[in-house]
Amino acid sequence: MASSYCASRFQSIRRKSRIVSIGNLLTGGTHPVRIQSMTTTDTMDVAATVRQTIELAEAGCEIVRITAPNVRAAEALGEIAKEVRAAGFDVPLVADIHFLPSAAMEAAKHVEKVRINPGNYADRKKFQIREYSDSQYEEEIERLHQSFSPLVLRCKELGRSMRIGTNHGSLSDRVMNRFGDSPRGMAESALEFIRIARSHNYHDLVLSMKASNPKVMIEAYRLVVSLMDQEDMDYPLHLGVTEAGDGEDARIKSAIGIGSLLLDGLGDTIRVSLTEDPVAEIPVACDLARRAQAWWSTTHSEPVNMVEEVDPFSFQRRNCPELSLSSDGHQVGDKHPPLVIARSTHPLSETAQIIQEVAQVQVSAKDAPVEGLLLNLENSSDLRHLATLRAALFGAVPFLVVDDLRDEADDDSIPPRLPNLTPLLWHSQQATTDEASLARFLTFCDQAGQQPILSLNEDSFSASFIALLSNLPSTPLITLSPKADQNAVSGYRALAANLAQHNLPFPLWIRNNQTNLLFSDDDLFSARLLDSSILSGSLLCDGIGEILSVEHTGELNRNRGLAYNLLQGARARISKTEFVACPSCGRTLFDLQSTTQRVKQATGHLKGITIAVMGCIVNGPGEMADADFGYVGSRPGKIDLYVGKNRVKTSIPENDAVDQLVQLIQEEGKWIAP
Ligand code: SF4
Repeated sequence: MASSYCASRFQSIRRKSRIVSIGNLLTGGTHPVRIQSMTTTDTMDVAATVRQTIELAEAGCEIVRITAPNVRAAEALGEIAKEVRAAGFDVPLVADIHFLPSAAMEAAKHVEKVRINPGNYADRKKFQIREYSDSQYEEEIERLHQSFSPLVLRCKELGRSMRIGTNHGSLSDRVMNRFGDSPRGMAESALEFIRIARSHNYHDLVLSMKASNPKVMIEAYRLVVSLMDQEDMDYPLHLGVTEAGDGEDARIKSAIGIGSLLLDGLGDTIRVSLTEDPVAEIPVACDLARRAQAWWSTTHSEPVNMVEEVDPFSFQRRNCPELSLSSDGHQVGDKHPPLVIARSTHPLSETAQIIQEVAQVQVSAKDAPVEGLLLNLENSSDLRHLATLRAALFGAVPFLVVDDLRDEADDDSIPPRLPNLTPLLWHSQQATTDEASLARFLTFCDQAGQQPILSLNEDSFSASFIALLSNLPSTPLITLSPKADQNAVSGYRALAANLAQHNLPFPLWIRNNQTNLLFSDDDLFSARLLDSSILSGSLLCDGIGEILSVEHTGELNRNRGLAYNLLQGARARISKTEFVACPSCGRTLFDLQSTTQRVKQATGHLKGITIAVMGCIVNGPGEMADADFGYVGSRPGKIDLYVGKNRVKTSIPENDAVDQLVQLIQEEGKWIAP
């Protein structure tokens, strides 16, 4: 069904999209990635909405969306637009419409763009299960044609653009029953509306395929691009991870979803959704857009393509047989979640500090411990410190990983015999520079009972090297030796493709370190956070990676924590409660930011459960997709609670709702004492 979706998965080449005007702002084509956000004020409060729109524009937001939940709010957009323009800001405004064609028709008179949700435009969602025959399905499409065409014609007449904004979890009953709540369903949902717009020769369209799960979101965008290609459509893409929540986790999820697609060459405008002040979204979005512009500025004579084991449209782990890294059950392979390695920032000579640092982390992080401790071996005299540490950390750390950074080419540059107390993995960059060194390194690892780690890249796979790798006494771990002209995501993908092609299903170690940076303009932690999210997220969402390390945050505990957060963001390994929280908008019925914090405080220890905090009952239940429990505003001051998609408690006073949520989790047998 789907074929390809980008020029190359081994280079970052921008997709060719059509140019669409949003007022005076051009998006798509070769125009910069446009930054957008959404107001959180009540649209009827014109003064507050104007103020927030201006704040966003001043912060660098290029497109501002405002909710229009009814016709009166849509009318208020006229006044808002007038006042924003009078204040000297020409930032294009977008009306956010759910359900009501009448509100969309009114809004189109006042703002530059209208966003509709194809899952609920002129459709009441009833969660009905029924089989649609082909003729019944066609009748539904005809009904859609009747209800959607007036908006298309109005936008065409007034020169307005439109976003067909699909959200995972809020697909129409018709699409859900035929395609499921899946990336395919999301793509088809948008295409039905696009075909109607095209029948009127209207093309000022932008598409989005948002989900709170970056894996679903990435697949949906790739799929819709591939399906559009088959119908000669080239509409620009608006990227976003919806209901991402707040803080570091939200930034990780957004960077995984948006950043991975930008690196694939997809995306013309982006919104980073945060349950925070919307102004906080802008610097994150700008950082992502800057990366994309830098990646795409490299010219490539020919797109590089390789045969891959990975299916970019449907998640599956790459083939990797089980391998034990410790005697107490730490295994890697496609049946096991990825393991975590964290780097100690102390030099090996500071053995006491390392031992103390590890002890503190392991006590405070029982659910997300350091599994592999990465240590730098700078010189041969460090070997005795290593022996001390190896003995002292036995039982405290499942396995040690030694990064052999020595450059002397004598026998000391290979792993020495050490007391076999704690499993040891040995990485030597130098060992893989030529075949003689590699053979010598592997022999010594074998004799010393140590697990070899090899740094390779696509240039490593000569016939003699493949022959050597095919006949090893033990399975090596593989990591990337980056090439100067290649980003690390492409490098790892090429490595995975080469290993599969030569039937070498060795575990891959994704390293978030200085040499694998995707963007080296600044050294702020926020920049490293985005880079690590994109590198790890792109690969993990492709099913690539058996081990993950973070090595550049400056302290062991932070390296450990970030690695687990990256794995959770990519849904590769769940180590804590997963929170989904809408960013809030003019429909929101309670203070989302403080409520989300209270819910987090009460339930943040429930590993493996997904809890959604949604501001309104109109969209909340539909859009919380795969949450186990939902906390949803139903009326001012009143909350409804959900188990999955079922509403089980209604109209609870807001000040009692968090306690009732805890009680509900207890009743469902999912509670554990903090
Ligand atoms: S779920 Fe949240 S962001 Fe979405 S419409 Fe409701 S209040 Fe607004």
